Amino acid sequence: MKAPILVVGTYVQDLAFRCDRIPTLGESVLGTLAPAAGGKGFNQAVAAHRAGVPTLFVGAVGCDAFADNARAFGRAIGLRVQLVEKPGHATAAAAVLLDRIGQNQIVVALGAGARLRPADLDAAAIRAARVVMCQHETSPAVNAHVFRLAHQAGVTTVLNPAPMRADFTAAMLAHVDVLTPNETEFAALVRRLVPGQRHFTAAKLLALAPAALHALCRRLGVPVVIVTLGARGTLVSQAAGHTFIRAYRVRVVDTTGAGDAFNGGFAAGLVKFNGDVVAAARFGNAVAALSVMRPGAAPAMPTAREIARFLQGKGKAQPS
Ligand code: ADP
Repeated sequence: MKAPILVVGTYVQDLAFRCDRIPTLGESVLGTLAPAAGGKGFNQAVAAHRAGVPTLFVGAVGCDAFADNARAFGRAIGLRVQLVEKPGHATAAAAVLLDRIGQNQIVVALGAGARLRPADLDAAAIRAARVVMCQHETSPAVNAHVFRLAHQAGVTTVLNPAPMRADFTAAMLAHVDVLTPNETEFAALVRRLVPGQRHFTAAKLLALAPAALHALCRRLGVPVVIVTLGARGTLVSQAAGHTFIRAYRVRVVDTTGAGDAFNGGFAAGLVKFNGDVVAAARFGNAVAALSVMRPGAAPAMPTAREIARFLQGKGKAQPS
């Protein structure tokens, strides 16, 4: 299987339990269950595909009903899904406890998802893509392998460094063309990689003017750094300069997966706009805005038609 966008990552079966209040230690409470497709890589693949660019998702799963759910979700929306089975390991799952006012507690078990190996990947699918995207839910060895092969073939590589890894090293940025941290991930990267910044925090980041943030981005050694700043928007930093893209003002229902929507939309934008990273980030900004207006992550990703309608001004005013 091949596609212009290849996302290597993890499918996570989200199990959202809603209850009046989150139980205290040793207590049981009654609630309701809403299972949903999730996982950063899977969400991003869904977002890119729905945004109108054929996408292949590759990830590892167990031999269980959750893996069947991943296949069924992919089939239902036409997403190409290649699942590598890891017998004896369960498909990744997340127990999400949500109380009446939306506060949550989450346990994620990556299980089979964390067991994807470089040998599981089809080199031809990597070389045939225009954009490959990875996250930190797969091992550094897998990401290094994917990015190296992609780079040799001239394929654009995108790393969404989420969730931030405790064992992160600068070597993990080798062959990365575009790095897309959110504010907490960016702060952690700066602490690790920029000399003299061991006490840098997300709060300090938010106090920086765009030009100062751009200067810090330049210290990471990656050609393009895109910092997503939630409802504030996105900073795109390239050697030639920086662009700040304000977030759309929309009625927010659920921001779960906003970063995944942005990343999937961005990857689709890179293909649609021939590698123009600012145009792609503007497109990702619209995809993410639409996604936060709906509940859930993967099911909330907008279609190409919805994005086009939104951008034509039937949605909200265009930010600067
Ligand atoms: P993450 O989910 O990884 O923490 P962010 O919160 O930075 O990512 O959000 C990613 C992108 O989603 C933002 O850069 C912005 O484009 C969009 N976004 C996030 N929250 C909102 C919001 N409340 N309103 C509009 N757009 C949003």
